[in-house]
Amino acid sequence: MSALDDNIGKLQDALKHFQNAGILNHINGSDVPAMSGETFQSVSPVDESIICNVARGSADDINAAANAAKDAFAQWRDMPAKQRKTILLNIADGIEQRAEEIALCECWDTGQALRFMSKAALRAAENFRYFADQVPGARDGLNLPSPTLMNVTTRVPIGPVGIITPWNTPFMLSTWKIAPALASGCTVVHKPAELSPLTARILMDIAKESGLPDGVWNLVNGLGEDAGKALTEHPAIKAIAFVGESHTGTLIVKQGADTLKRNHLELGGKNPVIVFPDANLDRALDAAIFMIYSINGERCTSSSRLLVHESIKDEFEAKLVARVNNIKVGHPLDPSTEIGPLIAQDHFDKVTSYFEIAKTDGATVAAGGERQGDKGYFVKPTLFTQANNEMRIAQEEIFGPVLTSIPFSTQAQAVQIANDIPYGLTAYVWTNDLTQALQVTNELEAGMIWVNSENVRHLPTPFGGVKASGIGRDGGDYSFDFYMEQKHIGFATGEHKIARLGA
Ligand code: NAD
Repeated sequence: MSALDDNIGKLQDALKHFQNAGILNHINGSDVPAMSGETFQSVSPVDESIICNVARGSADDINAAANAAKDAFAQWRDMPAKQRKTILLNIADGIEQRAEEIALCECWDTGQALRFMSKAALRAAENFRYFADQVPGARDGLNLPSPTLMNVTTRVPIGPVGIITPWNTPFMLSTWKIAPALASGCTVVHKPAELSPLTARILMDIAKESGLPDGVWNLVNGLGEDAGKALTEHPAIKAIAFVGESHTGTLIVKQGADTLKRNHLELGGKNPVIVFPDANLDRALDAAIFMIYSINGERCTSSSRLLVHESIKDEFEAKLVARVNNIKVGHPLDPSTEIGPLIAQDHFDKVTSYFEIAKTDGATVAAGGERQGDKGYFVKPTLFTQANNEMRIAQEEIFGPVLTSIPFSTQAQAVQIANDIPYGLTAYVWTNDLTQALQVTNELEAGMIWVNSENVRHLPTPFGGVKASGIGRDGGDYSFDFYMEQKHIGFATGEHKIARLGA
């Protein structure tokens, strides 16, 4: 039996439960259908088959979940840190035990290739382990003495929070948000993306087994403009941690205005990889290819704009074309597959529309530029050359395995092109000139920059973007800054003079 057949067999076992029971919401410790009784269907992008029915929650379901999270808050906040830490570690263990099943379902639901998703499940467990370890210190504060007061600070969890996640690597991103929220003492209502509900449900099942009190973590499936909107508007929800498109981010802010929501927004990107001629060009090539063509290019941190020095452009692009044409597009559960299908028909239509847009704008389709097969949402990895930064293929987030190559002549021009974009999530710089690296990283408008490296996530470092790529940071203590409030308490150290009015 081939590895693909073996994986398909295991997937079919894993899907049986979903096919029989559908995907239910989880509110206040119980698995429940949507109050309206409505469902929607989850469809696999691999063969366009229906996977299962999913509860279609709306404002009533969100209301019940938000109230459950509100009622559970005091108990969870006041639970001894050691106990809370143990529960989070139990969740990490549960993820590890079901890592293979999670990876298979994620691939089937999203089209991601197994070679990347198997590691994503383990990284998700690591998220829970990392934040479990931070629990005992989460409330730590400062002592800021003044002449008359002992001023101390502490942090307290903000309250019930809403977490809204997208369909790209949904399992990993959900844990990235939910783990620090729970670690800080917040209770959670999670609204996963409607296009990829499977692994959020498995995660909920793992959490149920972990010793978590009822109401601490609630799951409501549904559409963004319906359940998602209701979550952002609910008065019991104190903050929204959102990952998704920049336009949706603007809606989140507007919808939450009346209830003064605190928002953390992780949004889109159109990230430059800048290759200077003195760099190790073989490594730069490997990294540029990895950062745009892995994860189907459906990655906020993808290096979707290649800025390459004119003196090395022809050679670099020629090597790129050869490698891109060699990337294996195929069934996501085949271990040799490097690119699987795009998430859904709408997204497929959007990505493939840029093949024409590129030509109309005067760019060259140097590789790919067409779909693969006639079933499922497969596209060939694509490279546009002869492009400039004004073209739509350079300015808009395509969110697929599509790279736009733009030449530059000077360091100043590279920085100018890199920054001439609404987004500012990541940037990648390839040079062995230290002064150049220092100057360029200083001038780039991006939340995260890697020099001579692809994106390597280290959990204590701040993750987030500037400009239209987001507001706020994840990771390490930065996550606690979002999910917690600073509290200052001043204790008089003696009988200092108090102004006496009306005496
Ligand atoms: P999306 O904005 O369409 O949807 C994200 C989530 O928001 C979904 O759960 C959706 O149901 C919900 N939603 C939609 N409308 C809503 C509304 N009015 N109110 C409340 N919720 C609403 O994004 P997507 O297409 O699922 O994800 C892809 C996008 O996510 C890309 O732009 C990508 O760059 C971005 N992303 C950013 C990061 C980051 O860290 N910056 C990480 C991953 C993905």
